[in-house]
Amino acid sequence: MSNRTQITVAASAGFCPGVKTAIDMVLELARTRQKPIYTLGPLIHNQQVIEMLEEKNIRAIKDVTEIKEADAILVIRAHGVPPETEKLLRSRSLEVVDATCPLVKHVHRTIEKYADKGYHTIIVGDRDHAEVVGLMGYTRGRGTVISGPEEAAALPRFEKANIVAQTTQEEAVFLASVKAVREKTAELVISNTICKPTKDRQEETVALSITSDLVIVIGGKNSANTARLFQICARLAPAAVHIEKEDELTPALLAGKKAIFITAGASTPTWMIEKALARVRELTGAK
Ligand code: SF4
Repeated sequence: MSNRTQITVAASAGFCPGVKTAIDMVLELARTRQKPIYTLGPLIHNQQVIEMLEEKNIRAIKDVTEIKEADAILVIRAHGVPPETEKLLRSRSLEVVDATCPLVKHVHRTIEKYADKGYHTIIVGDRDHAEVVGLMGYTRGRGTVISGPEEAAALPRFEKANIVAQTTQEEAVFLASVKAVREKTAELVISNTICKPTKDRQEETVALSITSDLVIVIGGKNSANTARLFQICARLAPAAVHIEKEDELTPALLAGKKAIFITAGASTPTWMIEKALARVRELTGAK
């Protein structure tokens, strides 16, 4: 294949600051403390990183009752938890380390502020995602999750509502949801809580997907933010593929491609991006 193939790796690819801080935090705990370490749910939706953490005896659990040791450390991951869950965790004889991303905490405070003034909270996000489950916990029992503008049609009329976004939401989906909700709410507060790292990633993705003839999105198949990134690329680029590992890249996939854009979800480590880049170079002969 010709070495005229141009490869661009997204500057925003890989761990977002929230995920990076959470991982650094648990690795530091594993290095400095002689206690068993657990995370409430997987720290990150990436199988390769989970395996690396397990090798260091950092284990993900579904429920706190799975912890049998009295001296264990339990880490709350970057997605955060509902306040009642945090209270329950802190009531046990465990050392609780909170790795909730400050940008997720900002959404908690935004929801709380308006919920306390009687506003209904509308969250634009994935209702089963851990971050959204956590956000719902701050709505004072008056919250509704919608996945996008289509579901806004089924909402009742609200006198006062505060609409927020899951931090990794696609901006176009959030804005379309705001438009749909505005029509059925007397007073609507718009809290665009998509985090800046997500916005930067989406902007770069849009700009480079348009000018590439193949986009390679690297990340866990169960990672919501990677799936969303892939949806944007697939809509804008002539061809897009979502891979978890570099061995999914084949000569047929890259044949004839002159401009290849490589990006990755917020839960994809740099070393996986580098492996994919090396594979693309090997198959295309590009430098
Ligand atoms: S996606 Fe944004 S809000 Fe979520 S953990 Fe990463 S930096 Fe924090």
